[in-house]
Amino acid sequence: MLIRMARWLRMAGHDVSNPPQDADDLDLMQIAKEEGEEGERTLITRDRALAQRCRRDGVDCILVGSSDLDDQLREMILLGIDLEMRPERCTICNGPLREMTKTEPIEVAYLAEDEPLWRCESCGKLYWEGSHWARIKERLERLREG
Ligand SMILES: [Zn+2]
Repeated sequence: MLIRMARWLRMAGHDVSNPPQDADDLDLMQIAKEEGEEGERTLITRDRALAQRCRRDGVDCILVGSSDLDDQLREMILLGIDLEMRPERCTICNGPLREMTKTEPIEVAYLAEDEPLWRCESCGKLYWEGSHWARIKERLERLREG
């Protein structure tokens, strides 16, 4: 339901896991509970009934009101969630990113030598500060300024 917002949260370095697609409300709550035992895990949903259930069962939960991505991100900012661009999580799979060292072979031929490059340790996706990155940064800055 909130796949796009999840990707934006990951761009800001947040650990946002993808629940299995066939998970029902109880599965989601169970996953949030189990993952919450190892660290912090908050269930993010637009489903009011699920949010109420979470509250009853003591599962950390954020109820998102808007269906618009910018408004959703503003809601996160209002909750005090930091939305500064930080390359720590793969936006697709949530795997940890590792900055590559200069001695590793680089498959991205057009990348300038002194540009930092990150690789997802789970799926192998590469990240670098291209023009797309600059646009994302700008959009986050605009949202933070309100
Ligand atoms: Zn990945």
